[in-house]
Amino acid sequence: MSGKSIPFDREFIERVASEYPTPFHIYDEAGIRATSRDFKEAFDWVPGGFRNYYAVKALPNPAIMKIVAEEGMGYDCSSMAELALSEYLGTPGDQIIFTSNDTPVSEFKKAIELGAIVNLDDFSHIDYVHESIGLPERICMRYNPGSLKEGNAIIGKPEEAKYGFTRDQLLAGYERCAELGVKEFGLHTMVASNELNPDYFVETAKLLFELAVEVKEKTGIRISFLNLGGGIGVPYRPGERPVDLHYVSAGIKRLYGELIEPAGLHPMRIYMENGRCVTGPHGYLVGKVRHVKQTYKDYLGLDATMANLMRPGMYGAYHHITILGKDGRPHDHTYDVTGSLCENNDKFAIDRALPEAEVGDYVVIHDTGAHGHSMGFNYNGKLRSAELLLHNDQTVSLIRRAETLSDYFATLDLSGFTMPTRLQSEALASQSGD
Ligand SMILES: *Cc1c(COP(=O)(O)O)cnc(C)c1O
Repeated sequence: MSGKSIPFDREFIERVASEYPTPFHIYDEAGIRATSRDFKEAFDWVPGGFRNYYAVKALPNPAIMKIVAEEGMGYDCSSMAELALSEYLGTPGDQIIFTSNDTPVSEFKKAIELGAIVNLDDFSHIDYVHESIGLPERICMRYNPGSLKEGNAIIGKPEEAKYGFTRDQLLAGYERCAELGVKEFGLHTMVASNELNPDYFVETAKLLFELAVEVKEKTGIRISFLNLGGGIGVPYRPGERPVDLHYVSAGIKRLYGELIEPAGLHPMRIYMENGRCVTGPHGYLVGKVRHVKQTYKDYLGLDATMANLMRPGMYGAYHHITILGKDGRPHDHTYDVTGSLCENNDKFAIDRALPEAEVGDYVVIHDTGAHGHSMGFNYNGKLRSAELLLHNDQTVSLIRRAETLSDYFATLDLSGFTMPTRLQSEALASQSGD
């Protein structure tokens, strides 16, 4: 057995695939709701109020965004499209945090119009926003602790990371904002990604609590909310343990009593902006074995590619794989599990022990609910897949259709060409044609 569970079986997926051809991502609503509730329950002690702003980039689909909002989350946006999605969903401004970097005026303007909490990435952005739009009354700033804090593999070392203010810039930044009329101040940091050590998040809180105290002492400015960032990891490998939010919360609560209350900063609102851990474990990329190839190695060639899930190819990330209906058999074959891109790193797994698989088997790639479909691309003319939502009552809805060739052609200027009639009709309406 693989040691990772799946909320459906082969018969179920066969029925789904008869309506929606593979490959597709399917998301488990019950799981997403359970994780979202866990956040709410773990942090319900926070006196000023707690909110996790779901990092929309993880899975920017309105159906999913609606679910996490129903469970009490806001949205962390970093682009015009993510702000537009939040606007489309009628989201109140204080339920949106705009944490961006290298940001254009147009996006600051949109965020300010929506009443979002604007989180600045750099000292120079204070005057950039002031001069171009006017600063909002509430401003958050992103701190980069440099060598004070270790980063991790995905985000790198803080002093090498492009994000945030230095400590001196931050202190000067609050003063500059106050001078320009800002009334409400927040402090943010985010220095890790996909971290499974719960103590890491308690340490991040400590760093921000101490810094909020220092800001008050040195500038007289009172920070009213702290944003601990995202970065809670997903146990991608069997045997890894998810971060215990109740443990993290208890550690933060203790520090709150030690640092925030004595400094007169109580009540302090506490925010986070996790995306990956909210939806990541509740998504599955389902594909089918198209070819079994035996050369110097054995390959399972799927109908899905790195364009559907680029994490293994890009970071060498582990994603667990289950051959549906065969998981109980001995994992006595070693395969590279590939897609069809003309790129040798288009592999979902290398030298993976799996049960013997055959053409037509359904292959489930686990934990694709974050940075899966959303990182997709069209290289090699690959079309992006459908996204399905598995509801609590075991019904399935299509929450994003698969791209067709006409989507691929849509942005081309074809005015100088005569398109063959055959292409115009069936082919454009079909999927990739395989
Ligand atoms: C990506 C990102 C997040 C969310 O990270 P997760 O790994 O999805 O929790 C939050 N804040 C910022 C600024 C980010 O860039």
